[in-house]
Amino acid sequence: MDAALTGRVLERAELRWPSAVGVDLTGRTVLSTWSYGKHLLTRVDDGRTLHTHLRMEGSWAIARTGSPAAAARSPYVRAVLGNAVWTAVGDRLGMLDVVPSRDEHTLIGHLGPDILDDAFATDGLPEALRRAAARGSAPIAEVLLDQTVLAGIGTIWTAEPLFLLRIWPWTPTDEVPDLPGLLLTTQRLMARSVASTGAPAATGEGGRGLTNNVHSRRGRPCRRCGTPIERGVARKPPMERPIFYCPRCQAPR
Ligand SMILES: [Zn+2]
Repeated sequence: MDAALTGRVLERAELRWPSAVGVDLTGRTVLSTWSYGKHLLTRVDDGRTLHTHLRMEGSWAIARTGSPAAAARSPYVRAVLGNAVWTAVGDRLGMLDVVPSRDEHTLIGHLGPDILDDAFATDGLPEALRRAAARGSAPIAEVLLDQTVLAGIGTIWTAEPLFLLRIWPWTPTDEVPDLPGLLLTTQRLMARSVASTGAPAATGEGGRGLTNNVHSRRGRPCRRCGTPIERGVARKPPMERPIFYCPRCQAPR
C-alpha cells in the first residue's frame, strides 16, 4: 500500500463503513501507510489518518486502476483508495475509522512493541519481556496473543514457535525456560513469512514456501513424531482462539 499510494493524489476514496459516511478523502495526497501490530495507518496531507484493521478475514489488495479487480464490486469491499495508477481495495476489513493524525497514538498507544519492527531484537524485546513478566503464570499462548504485551502475533505465529521449541501452549509464562528465545524465534518466523509473501500469512498455509507444522493441521500426523495434532483453545469466550499443538512433542513438563 505504501508503494502504491504514497505521494499520489487519491482520485477515488470510498469508505463503505457506517461511521465514515460523509468522510471524503478524494483529492488528498497520501503521505504514508505504515503498520503497527495488526493496525494499518494511512496518512493523508490534510492531517487525517485512515485507520484499518484486518481482524481475521480482512485484506488489502492492490490492483491496477481501470482493471476489473479495481472496480471493487464485491459487497464485502469496505474501502477503495485509488490514484491514477493503482487502486487499493480493502475487503472484509474488521475496523475502519478516520482520525486526526495527531491522535494516532490513541489507536496504538496501549499496544506492546511491534514484533515486526526492524529494531525489535534490540529495542522492543526488553519491554515485551517486562510486559510478559507482569502476566505472571498466565498461559504462554494467551500472553503471545495479547497485543498489549507484544503487537502483531495471531494464532499461526503463536502455535508454530511453541511447536518448534516443544513448549506446551498452557505453560505458565513465568515457567517458560527461555522466554527471550521464544520471542526471537517468533520474530524470526514472522519476518521470514513476510519476506516470502509480502505480509504475515493470514491463512492456514503459513505463506508461500513455508509449511505449517501444526496450525490448521488437527488430526494430521505430527511432522516430528507422527502423533495426531490436536486443537486446543486459548482465552475465554467470546475471545477464545484455536491453538494447534502436538500432544507428544509439546507435553506439559
Ligand atoms: Zn509430535
